[in-house]
Amino acid sequence: MTSTTTSLAETGTAGHLPLVLAEQVTKSFGNHQVLSGIDFSVEAGEVACIIGPSGSGKSTFLRCLNALEKPNGGRIRIDGEDVGFNYRKGKFHEWNSAEYAKFRLNVGMVFQRFNLFANMTALENVACGPARVKGEPKKLALARAEELLERVGLAGHGHKYPMKLSGGQQQRVAIARSLAMDPQVMLFDEPTSALDPELVDEVLEVMKSLAVGGMTMVLVTHEIGFAREVADSLAFIDGGVVVEKGNPRELIANPQHERTQQFLSKVL
Ligand code: ADP
Ligand code: MG
Repeated sequence: MTSTTTSLAETGTAGHLPLVLAEQVTKSFGNHQVLSGIDFSVEAGEVACIIGPSGSGKSTFLRCLNALEKPNGGRIRIDGEDVGFNYRKGKFHEWNSAEYAKFRLNVGMVFQRFNLFANMTALENVACGPARVKGEPKKLALARAEELLERVGLAGHGHKYPMKLSGGQQQRVAIARSLAMDPQVMLFDEPTSALDPELVDEVLEVMKSLAVGGMTMVLVTHEIGFAREVADSLAFIDGGVVVEKGNPRELIANPQHERTQQFLSKVL
């Protein structure tokens, strides 16, 4: 598939673009080509899961989606806007740092390691973004943070410091912290991989409730059961390309490519 035919196929009727649209995205680190032409899209309100072997470029791709990495080629659009560029006077101009910062508020990211501020309580962790970055009055930010903690099942834990919370609770605070910025899209990079097995479900439950609530989500995960149950699409990435993408239940039950079959036989 060339990028032009893909883009025509994926954009469908004139004027409609998926909320997240990546076309032929490439990325190298030195001589090492990590992404070799990724085509990927997510409709508003959908949950897209990504699976694939370690080192296949999943994290790099997510980091390109929220502009933590700059692709070497291809095009990424979120809500129709090119990521990293403005089009003015017939030319593309790279964003300045303020434009990058503004964009990242709109695309939340939750990492494998929770990265909470150790010197702040759970409540302060959630409230600090809106208060500092968006200039929300502190009282309002704290009240909203309280609601968000409740939404991730942590009512009454707001006064605790991260050290006093379990890994699953910390990851739920991290999710609440992302939600506090009202992102249009949430990216999750193996959010349960660092957790003890008994803490995985509480985090998946929170993510499921977000999905049911209509949040647009891109999730790199090894939780095949979650992908099968919750995701609208499942993509298998290997060698820096999307080898196969489709309905999760169909893809898991009947993978078309040998590489997908081999991968699934190891993780199922
Ligand atoms: P995955 O998330 O699928 O395990 P990654 O996207 O993390 O894969 O990494 C893909 C490849 O890119 C790996 O070989 C990794 O070493 C390399 N890589 C990722 N980030 C960098 C970087 N900042 N500099 C150099 N190499 C990198
Ligand atoms: Mg990774």
